[in-house]
Parts: sequence; structure tokens; C-alpha cells
Amino acid sequence: SFKKSLGQNFLIDQNILNKIVDAAELDETKGALEIGPGIGALTEQLAEAAGKVTAVEIDNRLIPILNDIFAEKNNVQVVHGDVLKLDLRKLFDEQFAGVAGISVVANLPYYVTTPILMKLLEERLPLEHIVVMIQKEVAERMAAKPGGKDYGSLSVAVQYYCEPKLVCTVPHTVFIPQPNVDSAVIKLTLRDKPPVDVPDEEHFFRVVQASFAQRRKTLANNLTAMAGKERREAVLQLLTRCGIEPSRRGETLSLEEFARISRAMLEEGWS
Ligand code: SAM
Repeated sequence: SFKKSLGQNFLIDQNILNKIVDAAELDETKGALEIGPGIGALTEQLAEAAGKVTAVEIDNRLIPILNDIFAEKNNVQVVHGDVLKLDLRKLFDEQFAGVAGISVVANLPYYVTTPILMKLLEERLPLEHIVVMIQKEVAERMAAKPGGKDYGSLSVAVQYYCEPKLVCTVPHTVFIPQPNVDSAVIKLTLRDKPPVDVPDEEHFFRVVQASFAQRRKTLANNLTAMAGKERREAVLQLLTRCGIEPSRRGETLSLEEFARISRAMLEEGWS
């Protein structure tokens, strides 16, 4: 039986499996971390394409099944655990010694997509690509450019760490059981360094969060809420100095503009 609470929707379409694996650019020198192998449909393709596959599955009922399926494959290791709780750096050291590069490839459980991806990115794991099947709407938000309703703090966070590319959209008919939402495969290629100059990441992301706090409000209003009412005038001046019209909304700002605001606030000594 399927566990809806664990986001269990198993892929049954060979063509989609191939697209996911192809996007990850694997070869026998590379390692793949799979999150949530389920009954191993994607794992099987990964085992053909990569030198080493480590698959982390939370559902203890699936562990003996997976171990059985992959008993003959000496490049597949099944790990029982919750990916959100695992020490992934340690896991990488144990599992991927000597591989030329590691990518995450998964059909993610949708109820924890964002926490899983943010964990992978914020821990700055040595990853090449993250190729994942996620809810279509979330994929669109991750890849969104400034200026539309899809663009928000998730877009900025993902694009700070990666270059996103939508690989394909996927109808819900290729899953058992069928989810209620449409899906998409997104490929995130990790950047060597952030695309903008950010001296204090924690502060940069606070500026971003604050700018989107109330989407209908202007940047000036949202940033005043962050900086304190008494700084209303100073916020207007700071934005003008940054060459940013205070009446704009957060959703129109590029990463470079958010970084400029963060740097200017730090120069003012605001925290
Ligand atoms: N890879 C399989 C496929 O494509 O058919 C299954 C994908 S299914 C959408 C998600 C899988 O993630 C399920 O097997 C579920 O048990 C597992 N899972 C859910 N939460 C997890 C977590 N926190 N850590 C590891 N695995 C998890």
C-alpha cells in the first residue's frame, strides 16, 4: 500500500525516467544521490548511468524490497533514513570517495521539496547538478525571472546558488497513484560562486524576505518594516542612492539589486 503522508507517487514512464537520468550528465566516474527511491524505478536507471548510486529511503517497509532488487548491483547502496535529518557531508564522505562528481537525482516527495532543496544548497555540499521531479508550480517559481507573480524569495535563493533550467513538464498520468498536481523536472546546476557580491549572506536573505513580506506593498514600505519606522526617510534615501525607485515592488528586483540594498544597509551600520 502507498503512504500518501510520505509523498509516495511512483513513476511508471520509461521515457520520463530517461529524461531525468540524461539531464544529470552522469557517467561511470560520477556518483548519484537519490532521495526517496520508492521501489527503485529511477534507481535502476541511475545504476546503469553512474559509477555509484546511494539511495536514501525513509520508509522502512521498502528497505528489504530495495535490498533484494539491487542485491546483484554492487554499485548501489540503500540507506534507511530521513534525508532531512542525515549528516549529508558524512554520507558523501562514506559513499562517494573517489568519484569525479556527485549529483542529486530524485523524484522528490512533494510535501518536503523546499526543505530538502534548501538543505542541499545551504549546506554547500559538493554537488554538480540537482535534477529533480517536483510540483510544476514550484519548478516555475524556482526558475522565474524578475517581474512576474512566480518570482519570489524561493527564486532568489535558488538562483543565488544555482542556474535553473526546466527540463520538461510531466502529466500526472505517469505516476501510481496519480498526484493531484502537475509535475515538472528541473535541473539546477550549482554555481562555483554566487552571481552577485554579498558580504553577509544572512543579511542578504533577510533583505529578500523583507522585500517580499507583503507582496502588494512597495519596496520602501516593506524595507521600512525591516529597518524600523524611524528610518522611513533614510530607507527612501538609501534606495535612491542605490538607483532603485522606492515605489517598486520586490518582485521586480534582480539579485544584483537586492545585493546592492543589502550592502548599502550594512555600510550604514544597520543590522
Ligand atoms: N523514486 C521513486 C519513483 O520515482 O517512483 C519514488 C518517488 S516518491 C515521489 C517519493 C519517495 O520518497 C517515497 O518512496 C517516500 O517514501 C520517500 N520519502 C519521503 N520522505 C522522505 C524523506 N524525508 N527522506 C527520504 N525519503 C523520503
